[in-house]
Amino acid sequence: MRGSAVTAYNSINSISVADCETPQKCIKTALAGFLSNTILLQRVSTITESIKTAAETAIEAEIDSGVEPVLSKAAALYVVATPIGNLGDISPRAIEVLCDVAVIAAEDTRHSQRLMQHIGCNTPMMSLHDHNERSRVEQLVARIQRGDSVALISDAGTPLISDPGFQLVRACRAASVRVVPVPGACAAIAALSAAGLPSDRFTFEGFLPSTGAARRKTLQALIDDPRTLLFYESPHRIGTSLQDMADVFGPREACFGRELTKRHESIRSGTLDELAALFANDKEPNKGEFVVMVSGQSKQQNDLDVSADALLKALLAELPPSKAVKVAVKLTGLPRAELYERAQELNDRS
Ligand code: SAM
Repeated sequence: MRGSAVTAYNSINSISVADCETPQKCIKTALAGFLSNTILLQRVSTITESIKTAAETAIEAEIDSGVEPVLSKAAALYVVATPIGNLGDISPRAIEVLCDVAVIAAEDTRHSQRLMQHIGCNTPMMSLHDHNERSRVEQLVARIQRGDSVALISDAGTPLISDPGFQLVRACRAASVRVVPVPGACAAIAALSAAGLPSDRFTFEGFLPSTGAARRKTLQALIDDPRTLLFYESPHRIGTSLQDMADVFGPREACFGRELTKRHESIRSGTLDELAALFANDKEPNKGEFVVMVSGQSKQQNDLDVSADALLKALLAELPPSKAVKVAVKLTGLPRAELYERAQELNDRS
C-alpha cells in the first residue's frame, strides 16, 4: 500500500549496522516499517546473508501461523464488498483496505462518498462504471504494476455481481497482478440465507430481460432446472416478473427479499401466484430493491408426468387447448410449455 510502503522504504534505508547487531534486531527494525517482502529481502541481503535467511524464516513463521505477513504486501487490486443498505455491515478489513490503498475505483464516486464519510477515509476515488471500464483498465493495471494498490467497489454489495469490474479483474489476472477479494455483503446470498428455500444448490440469474417476450423465453429455459433460482429485480418490474414466473413455472414455492438490511426490509414467502397477487392488489409496495427466489423443478413434479397425460386428455375433451393447458399447469405444477406441447401431440393423435 502506498503510504505504508513509503514509510517502510524509508525505514529500511535507514537501517544501520548498529540496528543489525543481531539478525533479530535488524528484522525487528525492518518489521516496524511495514516493508514489502521483496524490498526487505533485497535490502537485507546487502547486509549479510545470514540476516536474509533469518528474515525469510521470520516471514515463513508468520505465514505458517496464519497471520497475513505484514512484509508481503505487494501492490494488488482489492475487490471490496460494501454494504447493501446497512452501513454497519462494512467489515473492519474492508475499512482498512479502503483507507490504505492509493486510489479507489468506484462505480459512482458521489454515491460512495457517504460510505467514505462513514468510515472516515478520504482516499482519492476515480469512477469505473459500465461506460468507461474498458478505457480505465489499462491505466489501472499499469498503476498497480508501478506499486500502487487499488480498491474496486460498486454502489452496493460485491463488485462484479451484476456490477462493473469484470474487465478489470480479468486484465489484472492476465497480467499476473495480484487480485485480493475482501468479502462482505451480497444481496443474493443475504436473501437466500433467510428464504427457507433449498440452498444446497442454487443458480444466480441476475436481472431478467426487460421486455416481456425475452423475459418469458429466459424463464422457459430454466423450467427443468432443479436448483433454487435467484433473480435480481427492479421495483418497476417486480409485479410483472412474478406474474411471468407464475405463468411459466406454475405454482412453485418462492420468496422475495425486499430492501434487505434496510429500515423497510421484508421477506415474503408463498407460491408464485400468491406473491404476484401482492403487487397486483397493491398489498406490497413495489418500491425498493428485490431479490426473487424460486424453488427448482422438483422430482415430485416429474413423478406426476404419467397422470398429466390422463388429466390433459380429460381437460381437452371439455375445454379449448389453451384453457386445458392453463388448468393443467395449475393442477400439476408442470411447465406450461411442456404441457402445451403434450396437448398438441394428444390433439394430433385423436
Ligand atoms: N453487487 C450487488 C450485490 O452484491 O448484491 C448487486 C448490484 S445490482 C446492480 C442491484 C440489485 O441487487 C438490485 O436491483 C436488487 O435486485 C439487488 N439488491 C441490492 N441491494 C438490495 C437490498 N438491500 N435488498 C434487496 N435486493 C437488493
